Amino acid sequence: MDCIFCKIISKEIQSEIVFEDEDVFAFKDIHPIAPVHILIIPKKHIESINDLKEEDTNLVGKMIIASKKIAKDFDISEKGYKLLIRTGEWGGQEVPHIHLHLIGGAKLYEEIRPE
Ligand code: AMP
Ligand code: ZN
Repeated sequence: MDCIFCKIISKEIQSEIVFEDEDVFAFKDIHPIAPVHILIIPKKHIESINDLKEEDTNLVGKMIIASKKIAKDFDISEKGYKLLIRTGEWGGQEVPHIHLHLIGGAKLYEEIRPE
């Protein structure tokens, strides 16, 4: 599988791991846009939200529960943070393996505007 995030999961490519269990993996974004910027991904290769199946419902829930735990670990729970999943070209998705961005540690401005 020629997928950069699958290689990060298998540790073929190095990353700063912050969380791992049997289904979910999380690591620091290499180009952080805020003091805390973590990517939470399923260990199973799924390209995008468009490819999710009913059977993945629990997995998606686990990604969000993992982000809650990580937010607590990084001490940003109380102040708040943002979760973001980009999908496809117009959504700005660059890596075709679902990833949930956990962004926080500063007051964040809204940034979602059409080009
Ligand atoms: P997206 O634009 O939503 O597809 O986000 C892709 C994210 O992956 C970007 O924020 C990149 O900085 C991040 N990224 C790409 N390669 C790596 C890597 N090797 N390690 C950590 N983060 C990465
Ligand atoms: Zn993958």
